[in-house]
Amino acid sequence: MSGISRRNFIQITGGAAAVSTLGVSNILLAGKSAGHVVIVGGGIGGATAARYIKRADPAVQVTIVEPNKDYYTCFMSNEVLSGHRTLDSIKFGYKNLESMGVKIVQDYASNIDAGKKHVVTKKSGNIAYDRCIVSPGVDFKWEMIEGLDAKVAAEKIPHAWKAGPQTALMRKQLEAMKDGGTVIIAPPPNPFRCPPGPYERACQVADYLKNHKPKSKVLILDAKDKFSKQGLFMQGWKKHYGYGTDNSLIEWVKGAEGGIIEGVDAKTNTVTGSVDEYKGDVVNIIPAQKAGKIAFTAGLVNDKGWCPVNQQTFESTKHKDVYVIGDSSVASPLPKSGYSANSEAKVCAAAVVASLQGKDPAIPTLVNTCYSVLAPGDGISVAMVYNFDGKKIQKVKGSGGLTPMDSSPAMRAREEQYAHSWFRNITADVFGG
Ligand SMILES: Cc1cc2nc3c(=O)[nH]c(=O)nc-3n(C[C@H](O)[C@H](O)[C@H](O)COP(=O)(O)OP(=O)(O)OC[C@H]3O[C@@H](n4cnc5c(N)ncnc54)[C@H](O)[C@@H]3O)c2cc1C
Repeated sequence: MSGISRRNFIQITGGAAAVSTLGVSNILLAGKSAGHVVIVGGGIGGATAARYIKRADPAVQVTIVEPNKDYYTCFMSNEVLSGHRTLDSIKFGYKNLESMGVKIVQDYASNIDAGKKHVVTKKSGNIAYDRCIVSPGVDFKWEMIEGLDAKVAAEKIPHAWKAGPQTALMRKQLEAMKDGGTVIIAPPPNPFRCPPGPYERACQVADYLKNHKPKSKVLILDAKDKFSKQGLFMQGWKKHYGYGTDNSLIEWVKGAEGGIIEGVDAKTNTVTGSVDEYKGDVVNIIPAQKAGKIAFTAGLVNDKGWCPVNQQTFESTKHKDVYVIGDSSVASPLPKSGYSANSEAKVCAAAVVASLQGKDPAIPTLVNTCYSVLAPGDGISVAMVYNFDGKKIQKVKGSGGLTPMDSSPAMRAREEQYAHSWFRNITADVFGG
């Protein structure tokens, strides 16, 4: 970490967490509130918000509208691709939330009527709310890649950027691929969910190929010229996968050198780049992203396709009493990550409870850490603490940073252990357990 030791960093983030928790309990203990909070989306942001509202004030009625019975975490889904874990190990249900008194409506929200204050659902009618929290994740800009749409992605060219059936499909394709095949991974332009994710995916797929199909390779066709934790990733690619040699298991083509892709032919697995055509045996195009569909229907987006919010509370600047958290919200400089969504959800839960109690919101502190596993026994991370300066979320100078380039193998092994323990902790924090 730059300019600060990990021990100091943990002290700072621990301190920050204590401040946030204190903020929440001050609000909670101050009085009984009632009211109904309807949450659209039971993913990382939505489920965390539900638990923390209930913890803050059990008298608040909380309903989650979520179409899926189970949620598959995107984090650690790259390890499903490499075969280091099963799809079942990233699957979570809503039983613990229900036992806290959260009502789960298994349905799809088709609109939010901010005037009448109700959520419109596909099958369950309108659900009235006092406050609505929206955490629908991302949607894809299919129109940017000719030949790609939701159906093609579900059946043939999985993006696997929402974990679940597409993760299973891509794993099956990798297993079926011949030795000597090419796996094309095409990361999207900024901004997108989990900036280091595509490059961790390249590592995990290369790890599988190294052990099972060593004549094969991963070809990264990137929409960008640089990416998150690039120095550390490239160092890891060299160490584990021969990057830069003739036998490299990973090749990276940057946007300026033909990495930008314009189309795909799903019948032949041919990808059309801005300069060349590439044939893949497995093709993984991660499309450009925007806020989840409901954010558009409900009029919560700006002209860039993301949801502007008051960064103190996450209340939408478009509609009163509607809050947007997670990937869909404009929370920069926080990245679009699960850790961010979890942190934003806690701030939002506290702000919603305060508002139901007629109180002022607290001044928030937020945290993010993103781990990436480069190979078994080798992890890296990027971390940061954030505060609110009265107008906007800001990075806290000197907090966090990157795993140092010259860190010892023992530290890198610890980083991998932290990654896995973070996964256990955050999923317990989000879904209970
Ligand atoms: C490969 C990969 C690896 C990742 N690794 C990490 C990592 O290591 N660390 C990290 O912090 N983050 C990681 N992430 C990012 C993380 O998964 C997301 O940032 C996080 O899930 C965002 O939470 P969210 O609540 O915004 O969206 P989601 O968790 O996607 O939840 C959205 C939910 O809303 C539901 N929904 C959508 N529309 C509607 C509707 N109209 N009605 C009802 N429900 C609806 C969906 O079904 C879904 O359950 C990774 C992502 C990927 C793809």
